[in-house]
Amino acid sequence: MKLTFPHMGNTFISAKALMEDLGNEVITPPKCSKKTLEIGTKYSPETICLPLKINIGNYIESIEKGADTILITGSCGPCRFGFYSLVEQEILRDLGYDVEIITLDPPDGKPMELVKRIMKAANTKNLYKIVKNIVRGAKVLQAADELTDLANKIRPVAINGVEVDIIMDAFHSMIELVYGVDETLELIEDTKLKIGKVKTDEKKVPLKIGIVGEIYTIIEPFANLYVERKLGHLGVHIDKSLTPSKWVKHHLLPGPFGSKEEKEKWEAAKPYLSTLVGGHGRETIGSSVLYAKANYDGIIQILPLTCMPEIVAESILPTIQNDYNIPIMTLIVDEMTGEAGYLTRLEAFVDLLHRKKEEKNIAGVLPRS
Ligand code: SF4
Repeated sequence: MKLTFPHMGNTFISAKALMEDLGNEVITPPKCSKKTLEIGTKYSPETICLPLKINIGNYIESIEKGADTILITGSCGPCRFGFYSLVEQEILRDLGYDVEIITLDPPDGKPMELVKRIMKAANTKNLYKIVKNIVRGAKVLQAADELTDLANKIRPVAINGVEVDIIMDAFHSMIELVYGVDETLELIEDTKLKIGKVKTDEKKVPLKIGIVGEIYTIIEPFANLYVERKLGHLGVHIDKSLTPSKWVKHHLLPGPFGSKEEKEKWEAAKPYLSTLVGGHGRETIGSSVLYAKANYDGIIQILPLTCMPEIVAESILPTIQNDYNIPIMTLIVDEMTGEAGYLTRLEAFVDLLHRKKEEKNIAGVLPRS
């Protein structure tokens, strides 16, 4: 079995390590690129959201590298993600690809069916071994997300932020060369040490921006046009409201009750949106309120064109902007998004936040008339 899966931020790092330790041959999809998106756009329904198009591009590029089995996650619920796996299977079958597709989706009253699929993907019937390796895989995911956070923290205060990019690019190339959980964790720790040695300027005080929105476009750098790098080089420290490790903590590790952090978001969202609207629409609202209360300088919402849950959230965000006096900008991405216009909007938003911060500082220093 030559197993592959789509790119979704750092998830491929832990999925690769976990599956290798379970004895699978893993074919990692090439890094997402213009070519990936072109392939995906060509074979996907025109109006479907961006993540599915990039997924299709990832699968086809992996199949060309020799993958014969695809691991897909599925879901139920009020947005399109509920039928992603079915549409993806149909597209690949119509294109004549002879690959096996294993879908990990909610059991729908047949828990044994899901267990059987997990055993198939894991290449073993030993449940103890599977659970032990999933926990180890979650540890890799946590460490990879911590590394990304560290890079995002150092970049805006580094004397030369490009050094951080060079270290992170080298890390992503090296991931292909390490095998299994232990080697991957070692590489992550080495990279953290390298980033820790990047020289910083203590006089730089970064702006703080919270990133909210649709999970795929927040966590996959290609989908958000490398927003964290762009903002880092503009002197901004970003915090992402959703990360793969936060998702795992909420959905897999604490059982059916969810994580404390996500429940805080639901509570904060309640005055504006008290029900599930699919995807992470409710979390977008809750996170925005929490960022505003934590005195962030601004908030950016990122969503794929036509993303239903985030369109609902987008319509509520102006009220939060007024209630908390915090600037909020929405960025919509699809295959037509131009990099130059995107960067201009980021620069203009950062300028606005700087001006607002200066006004606040002056108001705090000058006596009231
Ligand atoms: S959350 Fe939005 S982008 Fe993601 S599957 Fe649902 S509609 Fe598409």
